[in-house]
Amino acid sequence: MKILIWVLLGYLAYRMFKGKSEAKIAKKEPAVAETFQDPVCGVYISEADAVVGNLEGKRYHFCSMDCLRRFEQIQQQR
Ligand SMILES: [Zn+2]
Repeated sequence: MKILIWVLLGYLAYRMFKGKSEAKIAKKEPAVAETFQDPVCGVYISEADAVVGNLEGKRYHFCSMDCLRRFEQIQQQR
């Protein structure tokens, strides 16, 4: 019965060692979230943080509601 425990421990140690070396090889680049540029202030924001505005069928991403309003004002002046 004792031998079985040692075999199990040895197997677990082998698994851990093998897992570590495999993890090094399989290391992937972290997924880069898509970013958008605020057309008003030029700041880059991610989709999750952006205030999305629809203007004439086009989607614009803003860092804040202030920039969205400023963008709308700029568009109306034309
Ligand atoms: Zn902005």
